[in-house]
Amino acid sequence: MTTANYNFIAGEWVAGYHEIANINPSDLSDTIGMYAQADIGQLNQALEAAKTAQLQWAQTGLEVRYTALMNIGNELIANCEELGTLLAREEGKTQPEGKGEIYRSGQFFTYYAAEVLRQIGENAESVRPGVEVDVRREPVGTVAIISPWNFPTATAVWKIAPALAFGNAVVWKPANIVPASAVALTRIIEKQNLPKGLFSLVMGPGSTVGQALIESPLINAVSFTGSVPVGRGIAKAAVGNFTKIQLEMGSKNALAVMDDADMDIAVACAVGGAFGSTGQKCTASSRLVVHETVHDELVERLVDGANKMVVGHALEAGTQMGPVASEAQLMQNFENIKLAKHEGGEVLCGGERVERATEGYFMTPAVVTGTKNDWHVNREELFAPMVCVIKVASYDEALNTVNDTRFGLTAGIITQSLARANDFRRNAKTGCVMINLPTAGTDYHVPFGGRGESSYGPREQGQYAKEFYTHVKTTYSSSGIAR
Ligand code: NDP
Repeated sequence: MTTANYNFIAGEWVAGYHEIANINPSDLSDTIGMYAQADIGQLNQALEAAKTAQLQWAQTGLEVRYTALMNIGNELIANCEELGTLLAREEGKTQPEGKGEIYRSGQFFTYYAAEVLRQIGENAESVRPGVEVDVRREPVGTVAIISPWNFPTATAVWKIAPALAFGNAVVWKPANIVPASAVALTRIIEKQNLPKGLFSLVMGPGSTVGQALIESPLINAVSFTGSVPVGRGIAKAAVGNFTKIQLEMGSKNALAVMDDADMDIAVACAVGGAFGSTGQKCTASSRLVVHETVHDELVERLVDGANKMVVGHALEAGTQMGPVASEAQLMQNFENIKLAKHEGGEVLCGGERVERATEGYFMTPAVVTGTKNDWHVNREELFAPMVCVIKVASYDEALNTVNDTRFGLTAGIITQSLARANDFRRNAKTGCVMINLPTAGTDYHVPFGGRGESSYGPREQGQYAKEFYTHVKTTYSSSGIAR
């Protein structure tokens, strides 16, 4: 095993054609390390090796596959403190958030280890006498995994674990601003003596290495999480090669707070949903749709909650909100604050750069009131610690507002009425619905995904993942005995 931050290609750690510095967003003077960048030749080497290794892996006994995944999961869980600290250092989420992400990543591996042993097919009588039918699943082959920076380990793992569990090879391109978590995970996977090339880590820019990966005829499937424009590009490239795709993209989730809401729950869900992980979650509630009778109380308590949030270095004890992950994201956030004001919104608190003992991308959490649902800030994903409040006069107006978006990942409602909660569950046009809970926060054993521009292709997570990571084969057999 190498200690250098290389790519892991065809079972070997290899230097790239050049290196980039990985900088801590909480402290720009802290260089976490230099990380290799692959070239297209190395990417192709990984893809060629994956082809051979996948055939071997598909023949490997179930218990070997189960043990490999279980070991990876257990090691992640056992080391969640150390790996969570590294993750928080490079991405900027707080140390407890980083630790939680690694722990959850371990649970994804242990869950899919068990799924290795649950690959049970179906059988049926044929409509033709003397003929039997069986339906089974087979791996799709080589899966390209392209993951984002906001959940550097978890998003990658909820793709890598099922890909391996169902017998596929993986070529993984992580987001280029979070390579340390990628190398750390790869070092754990490497210990499992998988067939050489079954799992490769190929670091480099999305625009070159990522683009070449998704266009390659050597891949059979792409699982992607990131922005809508890149997702669209992947869909176009995939059609050309008939590559299977699964795209998880942005969203514009709304939390509706009704006149009968428990206000303690409403405030906790609004604060957590908007500012958790510095607002950089595809499940964040950046739209807060509030009934007029509770509007002023909710806004007052929300502003109070935002003002009390401790913004600071991700690794400092007591920090509740870390920095924004990158300068580009921070600049985009300030643009959106400006736009909200320009459109007529009132920024009641936050939205400003703040200085701390170390130089970093620190921004105060922002609450904007008086906004309309057709404004830019309520149409586009913000990915910022920024929440826009939309006042409504009724439940029906709230539901219509929640659904008036081209996205559809999660939607939440805070209400004490069972009838309203049920109506909302039935009529919210999203993949996930949260009742008296924040819009963010999902489990690992049930499906995750959305509608509209949020998701495209089969669902991720739980048993539903097999729809993407396997092909279905139907076999007809006759005993050959004439009757
Ligand atoms: P991108 O969609 O650009 O990045 C996501 C991943 O795709 C990264 O690994 C990136 O690599 C890779 N990538 C970029 N271009 C290509 C390409 N042409 N072909 C293949 N892969 C590519 O998102 P950004 O990081 O630029 O974030 C921009 C916005 O996207 C955010 O503000 C947010 O709104 C949204 N987003 C949503 C996420 C979600 O969870 N739904 C996650 C991340 C972003 P590299 O990093 O090297 O460019």
